[in-house]
Amino acid sequence: MRLAPRRSEHVACAGGADVPAAGEMGFVPAAGRWAVDEVTNHSSGYCPDLDSWRAVGRALDRAGVEHPGRFTYEVVFRLCHECGERSMVREQDFVCVFCGNALPRTRNAGP
Ligand SMILES: [Zn+2]
Repeated sequence: MRLAPRRSEHVACAGGADVPAAGEMGFVPAAGRWAVDEVTNHSSGYCPDLDSWRAVGRALDRAGVEHPGRFTYEVVFRLCHECGERSMVREQDFVCVFCGNALPRTRNAGP
């Protein structure tokens, strides 16, 4: 698991390594240690799918860090076939925010 300050570039943080999951985490002190209280798959560089949680949970378990057991904020990414932009789907509205084209229901966005 690699960590970098918020607003840094996830691709730079990865340093060329394979990336099974990417996103943002928030930590809180808990009983003299750090615990994760917020975790998301929000990475527009990698556009990880929701099933990337398995890799996040395994990494946190290996590190012995308490966590919520799921993403606390889930982001669905889709690539628009019309304009080529990556969109975040909000409230199950599969429409490109850039051109208004319908977005596919199945995952098609990645690094
Ligand atoms: Zn579009």
